[in-house]
Amino acid sequence: MTSDDLAFDRDHIWHPYTSMSEPLPCYPVVGAQGVHLQLADGRQLVDGMSSWWAAIHGYNHPRLNQALQNQLAQMSHVMFGGITHPSAVALCRRLVAMTPAPLECVFLADSGSVAVEVAMKMALQYWQARGEKRQRFLTLRRGYHGDTFSAMSVCDPDNSMHSLWQGYLPTHLFAPAPQCRFDDEWDEQDIAEFTARIAAHADSIAAVILEPVVQGAGGMRFYHPRYLQQVRELCDRHQVLLIADEIATGFGRTGKLFACDHAGIAPDILCLGKALTGGTMTLSATLTTRAVANTISNGAAGCFMHGPTFMGNPLACAVADASLALLQEGNWQAQVTAIEQQLRTALLPLAAHPQVADVRVLGAIGVIESRQPVNMAAIQRFFIERGVWIRPFGKLIYLMPPYVITPAQLSQLTEAIKAALDQADLFLPG
Ligand SMILES: *Cc1c(COP(=O)(O)O)cnc(C)c1O
Repeated sequence: MTSDDLAFDRDHIWHPYTSMSEPLPCYPVVGAQGVHLQLADGRQLVDGMSSWWAAIHGYNHPRLNQALQNQLAQMSHVMFGGITHPSAVALCRRLVAMTPAPLECVFLADSGSVAVEVAMKMALQYWQARGEKRQRFLTLRRGYHGDTFSAMSVCDPDNSMHSLWQGYLPTHLFAPAPQCRFDDEWDEQDIAEFTARIAAHADSIAAVILEPVVQGAGGMRFYHPRYLQQVRELCDRHQVLLIADEIATGFGRTGKLFACDHAGIAPDILCLGKALTGGTMTLSATLTTRAVANTISNGAAGCFMHGPTFMGNPLACAVADASLALLQEGNWQAQVTAIEQQLRTALLPLAAHPQVADVRVLGAIGVIESRQPVNMAAIQRFFIERGVWIRPFGKLIYLMPPYVITPAQLSQLTEAIKAALDQADLFLPG
């Protein structure tokens, strides 16, 4: 890429959550292989982000590439209305088999946010079909469910700036973020406010929506599985649907195949995305129980009112099926356990560092919460000079590497974080 390309990018192309007038620098990447990103100037960076939870097998994986090439030779896309194809059937068969037993019906959508829209719409149609006016959702503060409007309406009100959309965004019910941590002794008080909210509003709540055990982009917090178990019990008691958003946590990241497995529960509706295609393409899936699917289908509309143009895209389905096959055949469990051990050994002692407010590790996720927010441009440059790709936000410096990372490569990531903490100029005052 030329400097002219970079100038065009800066002047004309939006990047995620970035200003168009005062953009932070972007680094040109021209290739990716295994756990490495290759910069245009030839430098190789060890990837600590898995491209936002997605590239669990590493980049440019031959099995995934082969699946794409095989599908490409057949057809890249065909509409899903009135048509089906082998890759969609293979993928959905696998999804039904690998997710908790009650989840049997699969809706394929384009991205995580759309999977959440679909889940919320399903919950609304479910109650409409049952003749009940239930149009509110109960969720947790510090949650993140995506950037489209319905998804945003159940994100943390402060993080996603609900004030900006006042009068436009539907107002839902929020319980405080769970405080009892994953490894803490369970404290019954932690669920008290949630219990009160669901009891008070049960007959107007369509569903509870939450990220099971790991709250991701809303703060990288790991809460107690007992909390999730009790949410399931409360949903049953009050006849409220439970939507589990496993878009970030699904497919082994937390040390279990799904984060719901930490609590031994199954939701009524499950959202999957991100790692679904091994990070190669955008695809998501929303799964429901037969009871939810049948109720919706027997309602006034006679169908579920959703059908994206690129629904069930064959290329995305083929590569997702190959990615899940790779996951099931491989030793992700041992890989994630080894990453967790190493992250604990390397990161937990940093809790004593004066710049560090908190350290937490779960599965292949390691989080350092700093006392001061990072200076994004400066810390990004610092990490790149050390040959690593780590992208913090606010006070959170975190790692979620591809499962195939080696111990030496993981050390490179944790050592870079350790070094960054000693540099006062990489943090903003306050
Ligand atoms: C990333 C994410 C989403 C949104 O997915 P997109 O593909 O970015 O639309 C929704 N929920 C959770 C928990 C996520 O981590």
